Amino acid sequence: MASTTTQALPVREASPSRLWPEGKGPLPANPLPSDHTLPFWRTELHELDTHRSTPELPETCDILIIGSGYSGASTAWHLVESYGDEPLPKIVMVEAREACSGATARNGGHVKPIVYFAYGRQERIYGHEVANQIAEFQLSHVLAVKDLVEKENIDCDFHLTRAVDVFTDQAYADKITAIFNTMKSRGASVLRQVEYVGPKDAEQISGVKGAKCAFTFPAAHLWPYKLVMHLLSRVVSKGVNLQTRTPVTSVSETPDEDGAWAVTTSRGIIKAKKVVFATNAYTAYIAPQYSDRIVPCRGICSRIICPGPDRAPHLPNSYSLRAGPANSDYFVSRADGSIIVGGAKPYVAEKKENWYNVVDDGKIVEPARQYFDGYMQRNFRGWEKTGAHTDRVWSGVQGYTTDLASHVGQVPGKKGQYIIAGFNGHGMPEILLTSKAIASMVKDDKTYEENGLPMVFKTTQGRLDDARNHIALG
Ligand SMILES: Cc1cc2nc3c(=O)[nH]c(=O)nc-3n(C[C@H](O)[C@H](O)[C@H](O)COP(=O)(O)OP(=O)(O)OC[C@H]3O[C@@H](n4cnc5c(N)ncnc54)[C@H](O)[C@@H]3O)c2cc1C
Repeated sequence: MASTTTQALPVREASPSRLWPEGKGPLPANPLPSDHTLPFWRTELHELDTHRSTPELPETCDILIIGSGYSGASTAWHLVESYGDEPLPKIVMVEAREACSGATARNGGHVKPIVYFAYGRQERIYGHEVANQIAEFQLSHVLAVKDLVEKENIDCDFHLTRAVDVFTDQAYADKITAIFNTMKSRGASVLRQVEYVGPKDAEQISGVKGAKCAFTFPAAHLWPYKLVMHLLSRVVSKGVNLQTRTPVTSVSETPDEDGAWAVTTSRGIIKAKKVVFATNAYTAYIAPQYSDRIVPCRGICSRIICPGPDRAPHLPNSYSLRAGPANSDYFVSRADGSIIVGGAKPYVAEKKENWYNVVDDGKIVEPARQYFDGYMQRNFRGWEKTGAHTDRVWSGVQGYTTDLASHVGQVPGKKGQYIIAGFNGHGMPEILLTSKAIASMVKDDKTYEENGLPMVFKTTQGRLDDARNHIALG
């Protein structure tokens, strides 16, 4: 791994946000999404990227979904699916910027269940059963996403793989092995899918120089923007009204006499009987009760390419290289020969202001490019002579929650408002089935409990009142 140098960290300035609404005054603590660096996933734009189904924003609707990332699109898709041949209610989706321009289009494309790594922290907060349940829920997504991609015939470069988590620091490897052994001794069911590779074989099996141990388990990777745009095109073709470049600036405190919420946007007010917040890191701006509970945190990703005749052999697995609690990366190896790497944690973590409570994805922590240059050569056997180098670097904003669980369900005290947000940098193995549950709450007034989601994800007043903060850059 690269050394954890302590050099100054210049942050590249971005152009001011094009979408910041006039007259809103200075930026509040949790502003809307701002201008953004270009992620690889948004280099092939879909025809719906700046779509508006109607020139004017509708004045009313039955269901308003705010946010067009994976959470919003998948909620809309499940809603439309569940209506089948029944007539659809009036569904509108508003998006502050372009369709799928937030974290979903800026992530690592890794559908990687956290099957053992978060157990230590989660067990301390929730106990063994719940920690195992969260891991099982995430694991179930690998095949759930595969089923969706196959059923819908979605062209999104989906590939099943095995995640290989490699520990390169002895003390860290010992610590995590002890946690793994505790899980085993408690009979954690999720470990059936996990293989521990000890020091004797770790370097050979993983290909990573200096590997002390490794854990392998099922995972997948895909092109997240293409997945989401497919879902959006399907729902738009069924009559969902998509309105991009339409930031919501507030939602009324109380519903009107007909039970509708007045949602103010940069293009006028829309009254909605039901509102779904699929706004990820930016939720607190329009639902202030989530301030300091869903915290925007910046992450960095890059694409490494390896052109020319010395192109390295394809790595069949996906990886995390873990050199310490604040020194880890993860990557997927794409069939086009490129590698999408997220992390650069030694640089990002060095100063809290680089990542914590940061809403701007128009800036990157500048040395990240140097960090990713030579990354494969430094870490992998057989890559030394390849000319692998950084093609692009981008940032994105994740919604971290102070109790490490997403917020899902009816917003406390706000009948008709729902939330699906705060996936702690790991939405890809949680959103599909979570959004299915939200759709059934919205359509059929099903309770949270009827949906079989882990109870810790249920958004409650108790969670909003709990001031403890467990967020760490791990
Ligand atoms: C750098 C990075 C790397 C990551 N890597 C991975 C990974 O490899 N695997 C993984 O599982 N997860 C990863 N994640 C996390 C993952 O991307 C998220 O958990 C997931 O995409 C969240 O989806 P979402 O739809 O909830 O949020 P988003 O995709 O952020 O969508 C929210 C949308 O709401 C819109 N919005 C917000 N506020 C408003 C408003 N007021 N009005 C209108 N629209 C609004 C935003 O513009 C945005 O489009 C990563 C995230 C980042 C940033």
